[in-house]
Amino acid sequence: MRGRMMQTPLLISSLIEHAGRVYGTQEIVSRTVEGPIHRYTWLDARNRSIQLAQALGAHGITAGDRIGTLGWNTYRHLELYYGISGMGAVCHTLNPRLHPTELVYIVNHAEDRILFVDLTFVPLAEAVADKLPGVERYVVLTDSENMPETALSNAIAYEDFIAGSDGDYEWPVLDEGDAAALCYTSGTTGHPKGALYTHRSTVLHAFGVAMPDVFNMRPSTCVLPIVPLFHACSWGIAYSAPLAGAKIVFPGPRYDPEALTDLMTAESVNYCAGVPSVFIPLVQYWRDHGNKPPSLAMAVMGGTAPPPSLCAALEEDFGIEFRHAWGMTEMSPLGTVNTLMPEHRALPLEQRRIFQTKQGRPPFGVEVRIVDDDGNRLPHDGIVFGELQVRGPWVIQSYFKDDESRLTEDGWFPTGDVATIDSQCYIHITDRSKDLIKSGGEWISSIDVENTAMGHDDIVMAAVIGIPDERWDERPILIAVAAPDSNPTKESVLEHLAGTLAKWQLPDEVYFVDELPMGATGKVQKTKLREQYAAE
Ligand code: AMP
Repeated sequence: MRGRMMQTPLLISSLIEHAGRVYGTQEIVSRTVEGPIHRYTWLDARNRSIQLAQALGAHGITAGDRIGTLGWNTYRHLELYYGISGMGAVCHTLNPRLHPTELVYIVNHAEDRILFVDLTFVPLAEAVADKLPGVERYVVLTDSENMPETALSNAIAYEDFIAGSDGDYEWPVLDEGDAAALCYTSGTTGHPKGALYTHRSTVLHAFGVAMPDVFNMRPSTCVLPIVPLFHACSWGIAYSAPLAGAKIVFPGPRYDPEALTDLMTAESVNYCAGVPSVFIPLVQYWRDHGNKPPSLAMAVMGGTAPPPSLCAALEEDFGIEFRHAWGMTEMSPLGTVNTLMPEHRALPLEQRRIFQTKQGRPPFGVEVRIVDDDGNRLPHDGIVFGELQVRGPWVIQSYFKDDESRLTEDGWFPTGDVATIDSQCYIHITDRSKDLIKSGGEWISSIDVENTAMGHDDIVMAAVIGIPDERWDERPILIAVAAPDSNPTKESVLEHLAGTLAKWQLPDEVYFVDELPMGATGKVQKTKLREQYAAE
């Protein structure tokens, strides 16, 4: 027997409609690329997204067309999220930190018809435009006053592009399974691959993100997404904020500690989210200047494992609740969040810190399991590790333009991460399977060694890689960045590591460098380190 309730489709346009109607006066504040602070409301955002949708239609964009964006976190980029997907096209966020050849590949693979480009990225677009034959027009995210001279074909300022639309427009009623947004994975091997989200997966993911034990979004939330709108849809924040009525503060092009701190303080930001490499200098800046934003109460961190020393600094020195999250582009990207239960809060501090290195538990909507090399399920005992597999309504099935299912025979997505799962379903990522180091038949977790190294007072960043070894197969080496004005030695670092690691887990060498090679999404590029150090 069928139920008798409405089959209202879950659509991205319904998120912005809801925000405009119910939280119409709640603010969105942006540091603009032009400089000044811009502020308006969710109702304004809704109205301008409608104008954009109309303008896209007038240009001849139809359902399913891909539209690229090369933009910072600002209100105009937010409007692209809603105007493009809302009218049935696909919002394809591009990561401007990628190598230009990779960008060219991605834009052409996606067949983007229009590129929306922030002022900062106009030179980048100009440099590659002759290799992008499918792009019909470039819209620069600014007004006519700030519109630069540009060689881009058919270029127009965003404000002029939408100015002709009168707002007399109804969002189309789409199928909730239609494509809405496209995001390519970092692709450490082979070409980048596109994760093509649906309206349904995005809306369900927004619900998941807003949950109390996840990002806890509500009208009293004032969130500053440090995580870019071009990285896995800003972890869903731009979709869950209108659902929950949160205020958003966008940092625009400025990610330096001073700019972030000033904005957080001025706008009473109480919650922010980003990768650890942004928080490390931020915490240092607050220490040096004694100016932690007073309202900042919670920080969600993911993308890579944050060192326990960072978590300790946030909580003990600055009174900020730290939540460790894990996910991947293929999961929209939310996978798990480590929110402590009362019993974890009661743990002695040292044990609690160790517990917080776990990546947390899945919200409703994500299921997790671990399997051995033959695909057999492994116990959730917090000790045995195996490949982490996931499933749920916001997990990928196959990549864009690639019909091959990426799922196991019984319908799970293999993440390529290696993890343990404990009896309460908290996962702990031991490593990326390709980053685990096998030495003398035993596995060494590069993340464990890195975390321990970053607990050394004079080390701010550390990466551990395995290099080939005749006797042991592989041996770990540590590449570290020293804290400013410090001079750590190999001996002091090894002595520190020996406090918690077994002898055979200790790196054979410790190299000090000024900086580690970082990828476009804030992760250390271990492939580059391997190329460089394997040869030494
Ligand atoms: P991306 O799709 O670029 O977001 O990368 C996803 C991958 O980043 C995951 O499969 C993990 O290997 C890694 N990752 C994300 N969050 C974490 C975390 N909290 N701890 C360890 N690794 C993480």
